[in-house]
Amino acid sequence: MDSERSKKGRLIPLKTTLEVEARDRVIDVYIASIPLRQASNALNTVRRLIPNDGGLDLQHLRRFSKPSHVPLHVQATIASVKSPASGTENAESEAGELLLVVGSVESISKETIIESLCSVHTPSAIIITQVPLLAPTSQEQATRFSSQYWPTVYKKSNPFGPHPSLISRAEEELAYEAPKWMALAVAVAQETRAAGTGEEIGVVVLRRHDGIATPVAVAGDMRWLNWPRFKTGNPAAHAVLRAIAMVADGLRRRKEDAQLAAATSATGLFRDEPRGELEQCDSVAGDDGYLCHDLEIYCTHEPCVMCAMAIVHSRFGRAVFGRRMPRTGGLCADGELGHGLFWRKELNWTLFAWQWNNENEDSTAQKGDEDLHA
Ligand SMILES: [Zn+2]
Repeated sequence: MDSERSKKGRLIPLKTTLEVEARDRVIDVYIASIPLRQASNALNTVRRLIPNDGGLDLQHLRRFSKPSHVPLHVQATIASVKSPASGTENAESEAGELLLVVGSVESISKETIIESLCSVHTPSAIIITQVPLLAPTSQEQATRFSSQYWPTVYKKSNPFGPHPSLISRAEEELAYEAPKWMALAVAVAQETRAAGTGEEIGVVVLRRHDGIATPVAVAGDMRWLNWPRFKTGNPAAHAVLRAIAMVADGLRRRKEDAQLAAATSATGLFRDEPRGELEQCDSVAGDDGYLCHDLEIYCTHEPCVMCAMAIVHSRFGRAVFGRRMPRTGGLCADGELGHGLFWRKELNWTLFAWQWNNENEDSTAQKGDEDLHA
């Protein structure tokens, strides 16, 4: 059963806006070919010449590389600048040469490098090549950088988003049951669609205690409930908002007279009463000042911008959605909107977010569905 479940899909952590922006920024640097025995002297010279790498953080780049370890186009550029006249001499010394990242072309001129390095040993070649400006945020990206630009190291950290170890720890907790909760979200979505009260969108909210997750709210979309059938329906009845309202109801019921609660929910804009067979609301939500503090939310679709902000403001800890909504979704940073509303430094709260990629289903909005606000 375990392996069968895990085969059906996987969690893909969302990229933050900073990660998306940083993904392919490159800079031009000088590379010098230095005899192996002069390597440390040359590096010391370069460090004196360009203190702190001119304010750039180049820690992710291998400072020295064997010529055979750099991409072929870099090898070819080096070969092209070596003088053919001194071919024999070069062939002899090549085995004993290292390539050194000197620094950004912005920070120094080629003449200054030659002048300074000549005091150590005249470099057999100096070229300009592109390197990634920012550290890779995954091993895959480091491998790609290494084959495309220059040998690059992944340090298992992420300056542009949540730390990879926190993400993988959370994934360990989520992965096993993710198919179950996504299936429940899909089922409640189908229920509201069948009832004609909303779009086929569903949400499950979970509370996790000692590693055990229990649903506190299950809600489908109800945008067409008591609402005229034109434009986009009742935005306050999106599945995410209904689920949050159900959690709020749970709190309120504990605090207020039950009669008052019933009266307000009958007349209010929010369709926060559970209606179908599957919908439920368990009033055990947190009472620590923030509505959904560290709760988990599963959505069939990437929530719209409004719902994504509601997720942030309610202080959910984790969000998982099924189908990407590039035109209307608020969570992804690499969609058409690009808001990345789960991890931005200007927001007062950050949460972890994943797409649940189900191998049996299309994971992006389908034709005709792409303008739907989930
Ligand atoms: Zn929404």
